Amino acid sequence: MKKRILLIYTGGTIGMNRSENGYAPEKGFLQKLLGNVPVLRDPSMPDWELLELDPLLDSSNMTVLDWNAIGDIIAKHYDAFDGFVVLHGTDTMAYTASALSFSLENLDKPVIITGSQIPLFEVRNDGLDNLLTAMIIAAEGKVREVALCFADKLFRGNRCTKINTSGLNAFSSPNFPLLAEIGTTIQYNEMIPQTAPKGAFRVQSLSKIPIGIIKVFPGIQFELFEEIMTESLKGIVLETFGAGNIPGAADAILPIVRKAHEHGTVLVICSQCLRGSVSLGTYETSAALKNAGAVCAYDMTTEAAVAKLYYLFSCGYDADTVKEMMEQDLAGELTK
Ligand code: ASP
Repeated sequence: MKKRILLIYTGGTIGMNRSENGYAPEKGFLQKLLGNVPVLRDPSMPDWELLELDPLLDSSNMTVLDWNAIGDIIAKHYDAFDGFVVLHGTDTMAYTASALSFSLENLDKPVIITGSQIPLFEVRNDGLDNLLTAMIIAAEGKVREVALCFADKLFRGNRCTKINTSGLNAFSSPNFPLLAEIGTTIQYNEMIPQTAPKGAFRVQSLSKIPIGIIKVFPGIQFELFEEIMTESLKGIVLETFGAGNIPGAADAILPIVRKAHEHGTVLVICSQCLRGSVSLGTYETSAALKNAGAVCAYDMTTEAAVAKLYYLFSCGYDADTVKEMMEQDLAGELTK
């Protein structure tokens, strides 16, 4: 039996057209383009249908509500298709991949996110290769999780980060091996097991939880950020130096940390380094964070930490439970 794949176009370069203000997504344009690519209807390809999000978005404009819209489409068509390919802009692709890895609970089918750096309508483009490969991987069904396919690599979705503004090799998963390498054949990494779902597939709807990211830099005046640390701020991801270090004396609880603590804001410590893990308390400069009950993100990307905060608070957990769960591996997003 031929496999059936649902393509979900959310917007992004891959299906964009030229407009007065530069590339922009256009309703129906990708459908037309794909109709002119005979190889997509080759007998060796899976059967497919295309659905478009309304409105189509440059991924810079995506919010949690758009993540919900993607999840809802997948839920609605879950039984009718063997796999899903989400066509998406590269700018926030790693955030969406992370968010879906949490919100698509008990997923047991491939959800492959891809896009391109050059639009498909251009003669020289990376979109067609990315699309064909993502469709084949979605049809093969070996990877039954949210994965990101780009430039001949298949990454775990919640381990990715965009590393290049213009190079075709736009993504990396610095703390996790590739799920597959795509050469003359698709070489799946057999060392990475696919976990069996623990229940029926469902989509956790995400809410617009007030959270933030602060990137630490030499000379940062933490007091400037004090004002935003109110009880309405549910979580902050602090991108620290190295293994979790921030400027400040070890025993002096910084006002920002103290305020987060007082107001029950979950303070998540990520690293600005692409590789390696956060380890609070290794240096004096991270001791204050540890003592103030900050959460260690270990080797999670900032994208995954943000998505996980959205997810856990949307599930309705209280701050203490969120703190506990942030440090647990829920969807393959961290290694302790
Ligand atoms: N700005 C575009 C987007 O993220 C870039 C891309 O698709 O690569 O939608």
